[in-house]
Amino acid sequence: MSHDYKAGPLERGPRGGFTRHSGDPHTIVEHYSWTVPGDGTDMARIAKWHEARSFNGPGYHMLVHEDGTREFGRPLWARGAHVGGHNDRTIGVCWLGGRNRGSEDGHDTRTDAQKHELEAIYSELRAQFPSIKRVVGHRDLTATQCPGYDVAAARAKKKHQPTPKDTPPVTRPDPPESPAGALAAIWRALVAFFARSK
Ligand SMILES: [Zn+2]
Repeated sequence: MSHDYKAGPLERGPRGGFTRHSGDPHTIVEHYSWTVPGDGTDMARIAKWHEARSFNGPGYHMLVHEDGTREFGRPLWARGAHVGGHNDRTIGVCWLGGRNRGSEDGHDTRTDAQKHELEAIYSELRAQFPSIKRVVGHRDLTATQCPGYDVAAARAKKKHQPTPKDTPPVTRPDPPESPAGALAAIWRALVAFFARSK
């Protein structure tokens, strides 16, 4: 029976048990599937491709569909097979897409739903593993186009966009607290006005 990757990770690969990380994860590595968006790719299909490359089932830990649906692959405690030489203590998160029909180039084709879900996953993983220090793109670790854009730069830019919460409150001068104070304020304003007009 085939595994339901939407329900949870594969606890054991078709070639046997997975290898544990040597410690808590320190890095999240973002990938694209380099498939044309909407072509029906899912974790089960990726698992078949990875098994054909002698991997022990799917190499990624998570997959995000165009509509934001999440699928699981390897359990978080297990090393993935997603970035050569960096699979220990890293979590591989992949989004579906990255390729335009007829093109070999990798692109950032993420939908808003995917961007939202990726950030949700990163927050959850950071909460679960305070040891996680950074989110990088596959291409930051090895020579590849994946995931088709500069992950760190895009995430830093997003963080610096002002949100309504960050906007400073509008400051108004305090009103005079008494009628006498109001008269004194008018008097000071008149004195200042005539002083300037001399
Ligand atoms: Zn990749």
